Amino acid sequence: MLRNYLVFKYNKLKKYRIDSLCVSENREIKNGDSHVLPINASSAFSFENIEESIDIFTGEKKGFVYGRYANPSIESVENKLAALESLTTEHDAYCVLTSSGMSAISTLLLSQLEAGDSILTQHELYGGTTELMNAVIAKYDIHLIRADLNDKEEVNRILSENDSVKLIYLESPTNPTLSCVDIAQIAELKNTHSVKIAIDNTFSTPYLQQAMKLGADYVIYSTTKFLNGHGNSIAGAILCKTEEERYTIWNHMKLLGTNCNAFDAWLLHNGLKTLAVRLDKHCSNALALAQFLESHPRVNRVNYPGLESSKYHQIAKKQMSQYGAVLSFELDGPLEVGKKFMNACKLCTIAPTLGNVDTLLLHPASSSHLKVDKEIREQNGISDGLIRVSVGIENINDIIEDISSAIEEAFK
Ligand code: PLP
Repeated sequence: MLRNYLVFKYNKLKKYRIDSLCVSENREIKNGDSHVLPINASSAFSFENIEESIDIFTGEKKGFVYGRYANPSIESVENKLAALESLTTEHDAYCVLTSSGMSAISTLLLSQLEAGDSILTQHELYGGTTELMNAVIAKYDIHLIRADLNDKEEVNRILSENDSVKLIYLESPTNPTLSCVDIAQIAELKNTHSVKIAIDNTFSTPYLQQAMKLGADYVIYSTTKFLNGHGNSIAGAILCKTEEERYTIWNHMKLLGTNCNAFDAWLLHNGLKTLAVRLDKHCSNALALAQFLESHPRVNRVNYPGLESSKYHQIAKKQMSQYGAVLSFELDGPLEVGKKFMNACKLCTIAPTLGNVDTLLLHPASSSHLKVDKEIREQNGISDGLIRVSVGIENINDIIEDISSAIEEAFK
């Protein structure tokens, strides 16, 4: 029954290295089938006869029924993401694709938690996730406890004093200040406490950080970002380690209706093929830009875990293969300087997303954090002059020239 909606084919791919796996078409292809993954644009799937329908409905036979439950295009992408997540690990991974990163988070939380449970998380979290937890999940009597997750003693104390904590939920690196959490240290807590760990690995992808290998029980992706990479698809993914867990998550996805659609899954599949080459270039560009900004007289601070000066460099070095493509930096000036900088950029685009092939800018104080009290914002490192950059794969000299002349313009 559990395998009803999942063709588990990826094991043959696990012998390949990650960049080969990204490129592969993980389907059985016979003559006449399209070479690349087709989009199965269908709300339902037909049966040869009523006997087959009964076998599939009872779980005797694997098959597709209804588009909200499963779809061959979507399943193929789920299998590839599962293969990427479990590569170099001894365990399997299972994936459920959802309609967005947010629906991946809500589906996971609703599938794992009950009234009276608590989630332990960090102070910085993607804004939408914080709002979801406070405005929606809290209505079901599931509450948030926040702590510095690198403070082992504090986290131990919280877990010892609160049996209600069933899930530790974290991001590393975080948005927009790029702080990192020592994932293996958090995973050690599972030896003494009955708690599961969920990681939103959107910023890193499995190419840079193998969250399950580091100890996560569940991994979340907004595939909208680097996994798709081209800014033309919104989807999310939930990865887990067992078939039973997948069934529970899948059942919630099916009943909440948070399923992905075939077209976005297909766009994600196209993007995944170039994940490795894109990220190599994204990361080397980001490091070069961070180094340039670090020595700039108008820049107070650069947040990028790849810099040796970063407070989080050692943690990131331990758990990431490269340091990602997102950085933030603080211009030495008031709100107006931040806004002038944004308007002066010509190559880099102002856009409230990240992970696309082109370089994207966000000025949190005048956009994502506009409604956050200035004092609270600044306590969290989000000053008026903070700029977030999702560094693209353009020629690095063009990116640096654009940002450098925009800084000059901003201070005129
Ligand atoms: N997680 C992180 C770290 C994000 O940055 C975002 C969106 O920016 C999300 C989740 C939500 O993803 P989506 O926009 O695909 O719902």
